[in-house]
Amino acid sequence: MRVAYPDFRLGSVLATSFTGTLSERHGNAVERIPTPHRLVDWLAVNGLAVDACTTAQLDLARELRESIHAAATAAALQEALPASAVQVINDCSAQGRAAALLTSEGKRRWRLSSASCVEDALSVIAADAISIIAGERDGKLALCASQTCQAAFFDTSRSRTRKWCDMNTCGNRQKKARFNANQRKNLRSVE
Ligand SMILES: [Zn+2]
Repeated sequence: MRVAYPDFRLGSVLATSFTGTLSERHGNAVERIPTPHRLVDWLAVNGLAVDACTTAQLDLARELRESIHAAATAAALQEALPASAVQVINDCSAQGRAAALLTSEGKRRWRLSSASCVEDALSVIAADAISIIAGERDGKLALCASQTCQAAFFDTSRSRTRKWCDMNTCGNRQKKARFNANQRKNLRSVE
C-alpha cells in the first residue's frame, strides 16, 4: 500500500526534494521535518525506510539539507561553492553504507546497512546532490522565480526554462496572482 503524505513535495530529484522540506525560505518558512518522526516519514516516502531517528540524526539531516541548499544555490548562480557546505555533503556521502540493488522488475532499490541507519539514508541523498551539482545528470540547477521561495531546483525540461521549483505550489500561486491582477485591471477598465 502506498501512503500519501500530502504536504511533502515529491519531486523527481531526491536531493532537491529534500531541500524542499524547508519551504518558503525567503518568506514565512515552513519546516516539514520538525521532528525525528517526520524525517522517518519523509525517508519512507522516498524509498529510504528507517525504523527510527534520534534528534541528533535529525540535526545532522538538517545540516546536510542546508548544505545542499547552499551548494546548489551557488551552483545555480555559477558562484564558488561554499567550502563548509561541500565538507558536510562529502562527510555525509562518505559515512553511509547504502547499497543500490536491482529488483527483478528492473527498479533500483536502496538497502541500508541497518534499519536504524539514518546516516546511510543521508549518504544516498548527499550522493544525489553531488551528482546534480557536479553536472553529472541531464538538467540544470536553477532558482525558483518566487521571491519568497528562491529554492534551488533541478530543471530537466527540454528547453531548460522552468521558472518555479514546483508547479503545484509556487507556479500555481504565481498564475493565480497574475490572474487576479488581470481581473482587477479588467474591472477598472469597465468602471
Ligand atoms: Zn518555489
